[in-house]
Parts: sequence; C-alpha cells; structure tokens
Amino acid sequence: MRTAIVSAMHEELSAVLALLPDEQKQAAAGRDFWVGHLHGKEVVAVLSRIGKVAAATTATVLVERFAVDRILFTGVAGGIARGVQRGDVVVADAFMQHDLDASPIFPRYEVPLYGTDRFGTDAALTQELLSAVKRALPSTRLHRGLVASGDRFVSSAAESQALMRALPDVLAVEMEGAAFGQVCRDYGVPFAAIRTISDRADDAAHGDFLSFIDDVASRHSAAIVEAFLRAA
Ligand code: SAH
Repeated sequence: MRTAIVSAMHEELSAVLALLPDEQKQAAAGRDFWVGHLHGKEVVAVLSRIGKVAAATTATVLVERFAVDRILFTGVAGGIARGVQRGDVVVADAFMQHDLDASPIFPRYEVPLYGTDRFGTDAALTQELLSAVKRALPSTRLHRGLVASGDRFVSSAAESQALMRALPDVLAVEMEGAAFGQVCRDYGVPFAAIRTISDRADDAAHGDFLSFIDDVASRHSAAIVEAFLRAA
C-alpha cells in the first residue's frame, strides 16, 4: 500500500518530509517526488504546485509513474460558509470547480462529458482522515462537506459573498482539490483531502493567508499526516 501525501505549499511539505527517516528524491515532470516511509508505511510526498492544471499533472504522475494506491491532500483554504473560521479544519466530502462554465452547452459548473459538477472523495479514506484529524488536533473545530476549487485566489468580500450566494453549500475555496478529485476518479484511485482555513477569502485574505502559513498550516498538516499513517 503506497500513500501519496500531497501539499500545496512548501512549508507544509517540509514539515511532512521532516517526519520521513529515509526519503529519496525522484524527479518527474519538473517536480521532486520524495519516496520513503512513515511509521513503516510506504509514502510518496510531493508539492502539488498551485492551481488546477498543476494539480492534475501531479495527480497523474503519482498514479502513472509512482503507482500510488491512494492520495491524501493537505493544504489551506479560504473559509466561505458562515462559521468556517480561520484555524478550523474542513474535511472534503466532494469537490467542484467554481470557475467552470461551459453553459449553455452544459449546465453551469458541470464538467463536460462527466454529467456531474462534483467529484466525491473516497468515503472510507475520508472517514480515516477525519478520525486522524480528531486525534491529532482534538481542540480544532471540524467541518465536513463541499469544497470549491478555481484558478483564483479569492481575496475580496464581494467575491466570497458572490460565491456563497451562487453555491450555498460550499464550505471553503481553494485552487487544487477538484483537479485531484477528477483525476482520481478517472483512475479509480481513492482520494481524501483536508484543508485548514487560513483566511476568509475576503479583503484581508492575503495578509491572513501569509501569516497563517508560517504559524499554523505546516504544523497542522504534519500532525494530521502523522496521526493518519500511525493508524493506517
Ligand atoms: N503564492 C501566493 C498565493 C498562494 S495561492 C502567496 O504566497 O501570496 C493560495 C494557496 O492556498 C492555494 O494553493 C490555494 O489552494 C489555497 N488558498 C488559501 N486561501 C485561498 C483563497 N482565499 N482562495 C483561493 N485559494 C486559497
């Protein structure tokens, strides 16, 4: 069983790599993939890079070249739904692309030829991840539900409110998850994702995001990955 651990940011990846006693670097598609063990389990850790296309390439290489059996994504996101606050953790049940619009040929948000606008995460893996988050961060507020991805850093109250009105069940917004969801569905590889809320996708988002990355995000990711693989 080979588990891919994917992070969106350098800070998160370094915290995860610090847990691996024996990682070896392998380059592919201009990325560094770190193959090693955590709690005796085989892992491949990599930076997804930012945005949906970069994420899709990373996911494809993980499956085709590194033959991973499952993919776990940890990163940060902007809170959209009321009550999803900085420091909270969102475990994704499903992902959609908030910037996809092939209407009127296909309904707004629908991914052409898939007949759906959302890709669910793997139920069993998501449950394991949820338990790991509870063990690793017992005092953190947890949410579970829909996360929206798009090739935009959402950083104004006007835009986040428009998103909330258009997609009332979206908890958080980020830039990679839906791409992983779609590639993993294409290949039938189980996928699960957590996002720590770094900002509220509002006018203060950029400053909040930067300070959060340094302070909290990397510790969160590493603690969750450690708890997950300890039990897996
Ligand atoms: N490199 C830039 C911005 C990084 S993009 C900088 O350092 O300022 C933000 C990353 O965090 C993406 O990988 C995305 O998935 C996530 N993210 C966090 N808050 C977000 C928001 N408000 N909107 C979109 N993505 C967000």
